[in-house]
Amino acid sequence: DIPVVTIDGPSGVGKGTTASLLAQALDWHLLDSGALYRLLALSAMRAGVAPEEEARLETMAQSLAVRFEAGEGEQRVLLAGEDVSREIRTEDCGTMASRIAAVPGARRGLVKLQKDFRQAPGLVADGRDMGTTIFPDAPLKIFLTASPAERALRRHKQLKEKGIDANVGELEVAIAERDRRDAERSTSPLKPADDAVRIDTTELSINQVLDRVLSLVKE
Ligand code: C5P
Repeated sequence: DIPVVTIDGPSGVGKGTTASLLAQALDWHLLDSGALYRLLALSAMRAGVAPEEEARLETMAQSLAVRFEAGEGEQRVLLAGEDVSREIRTEDCGTMASRIAAVPGARRGLVKLQKDFRQAPGLVADGRDMGTTIFPDAPLKIFLTASPAERALRRHKQLKEKGIDANVGELEVAIAERDRRDAERSTSPLKPADDAVRIDTTELSINQVLDRVLSLVKE
C-alpha cells in the first residue's frame, strides 16, 4: 500500500506550508485539494455555471484538466495547460470555491481525481476531508488548529504583504463565522477523523510543526 499523510484543518493554521515542506522532506507527491476546488470554481465562473447547477458541476469536476508542476517554492497550477496559479488565489475564486464545496455533486465529482494522486513512493494530502472522506485508510492523519485570533493575525500579515490593510478584529470575526459554517454544513462538515492526531499551532512556528509531523511519520 502506498502511504498517505493527511493534513486537514481550517484555513490559516499553516496546513499548506506544512504539507508542502513535508512532501519536500519526504520526497513524496503533494495534493493541494483546495486548489482543485478553486480550479473548479474558476472553470465554473468562466463557463458561466452557477453553484445551483449541480449536474454540470459534477461533470466539470470529473473532467477537470489539472496539472501541478513543481516550481521555485510554490508549485504551479495548470488548467488545460494554462498557468492559473495566481488567478485561483483571488478572493473571488476563494469565495466561489467555498460555495461550490458545499454542493454534494461537486465534491463527488472530485473524489476520483483526488484518489489518483496516491502514487509511489507516497502522498501528502492537504485539505478539509482528506482523512475523513478521501483517504480514510491513511496510516497518519494530522488535524491542525490555531486560535481564531492567531489565524486573523497570520491572515493580516499575508494581506499586508499584498498591500492590503485589513482590520484584525474584523478578520477574526469572519474566521470564527466561517468555522461555524464549515462545521455545520451537511456535506463533509469540517471535523477531525477519529484517529487524527491534533496539533494546536497557535504557539508553534512552521518548523516546529514540521518537526512534530516528521517525528510522527517516523514512528
Ligand atoms: O484551502 P483553500 O482555501 O484553498 O480551499 C478553498 C475552498 O475549498 C475552501 O473554502 C473549502 O471550503 C474548500 N475545500 C473543501 N475541501 C477540501 C479542500 C478545500 O471543501 N478538501
